[in-house]
Amino acid sequence: MRIHEQREPLGSERATARAPAAAGHQARQFAAARLSPAEILEVQRTAGNRTAVAVQRAADPAATPEQVTRDLERLRALQENEDLDPQLRAVLAEVIAAADSVVRWNPAIPTSGHAHPSYSDDGVRNGFLVAYQGATEDEAQRLGNLVHELTHIAVYLGLDRSFVNYRHPDQAAVQDSLPAEQDGMEARQGRLMVGAANEVLIENLQELERLLPPDGGLRSDEQGAAQQVREKLRYGLMTPHKEYDTVLNQILTWTNLWGSDRRTPFYRRLVELATQARERRQGPQSLRTGNRVTRAGRRIAAQARRLWERVRSHFPRRGERT
Ligand SMILES: [Zn+2]
Repeated sequence: MRIHEQREPLGSERATARAPAAAGHQARQFAAARLSPAEILEVQRTAGNRTAVAVQRAADPAATPEQVTRDLERLRALQENEDLDPQLRAVLAEVIAAADSVVRWNPAIPTSGHAHPSYSDDGVRNGFLVAYQGATEDEAQRLGNLVHELTHIAVYLGLDRSFVNYRHPDQAAVQDSLPAEQDGMEARQGRLMVGAANEVLIENLQELERLLPPDGGLRSDEQGAAQQVREKLRYGLMTPHKEYDTVLNQILTWTNLWGSDRRTPFYRRLVELATQARERRQGPQSLRTGNRVTRAGRRIAAQARRLWERVRSHFPRRGERT
C-alpha cells in the first residue's frame, strides 16, 4: 500500500530534542543543523532508519502531538509499575520501542485506528503512520487502542514485514516470492497466511471467549466489560493472521487498567497466549500447529510449493532444496 505523506517543512524554530536515547545525541546534532528532507534521506541511508526518524521528530515537533507524548509517557509509567503484570510490562516495553519508528501520528480518530508503513517519494520506508483514539477520555480505551496499533508495528518489525502474526513454516522459500511491500502488502499477507496456523489462533480466541467470566472478575464498577472483551475477541476471529496479537495485547491492557482479577482461568490463559505471541514476535519460534494437517493447510502449502517451483525455475540450481 502506497502512502503519500504531506510533511511540514523541517527545521522548525521550536525544534525540541525528544529523540530515542539510542540515536538521541546524533539526532540532536542533525536537528540543530536544520537538514532538508533530501538530507534527512541521506541520514537514513548512512546512519540508519532509527536515527533518521529521531532527526525528523527532533526537527518537527508537530510530528508528535501533545496527546501522543502524554500517552507514551503514561505507557512508560505503566511499564515501570511493579504492581502490574510482568507480561503486560514486557509487552509495553516492546510497543514503546515500536513507537520510536512512528514518523506521523493522528491521535484524533473517534473509533478504531490504524498503522501503516510510510514511504519516502523514492520508495524507501521511513517509518510508520499511526492513528488511534487519542481523544477518548477513558484511559483504558485510549491506551488499549494505542497498544493495539503499536502491536501491529511490533509484528511488522519482528516478523515478515507484512503484519502477519506468525512466520510461514517455509519462510525462506516464500520470502523470495513476495512482492515488494510498498505495492503488494495484501498479496504478501495472502502468501504468508497459513490455514493451519489460522486455525490454532481461532481456537485460542474461542477458548478465551468460553473462559470469559460472566459476572464480574473483569471490572467491578461497570457492566458490559465482558461484552466488550467478547466483541474484541470476535474482531480477532475475523482476520486472525492480522489481528490476533493486537487483540490479545489490547485486552491485556484493559484488564490491567481495570484491575481485573488475575487469578481467573480467563486471565491466566490470556497471559499465557499473549506471552507466546510475544515470544513469536521476538524470537525464531514459529507457531506450533501440531501434527494436524487440514485441507486448507494442505492447499496453501501446495500453493506455496508451486510458487516456489516457479521462482526457482528462473534461477540456476545451487543444490536441492526441500
Ligand atoms: Zn488492528
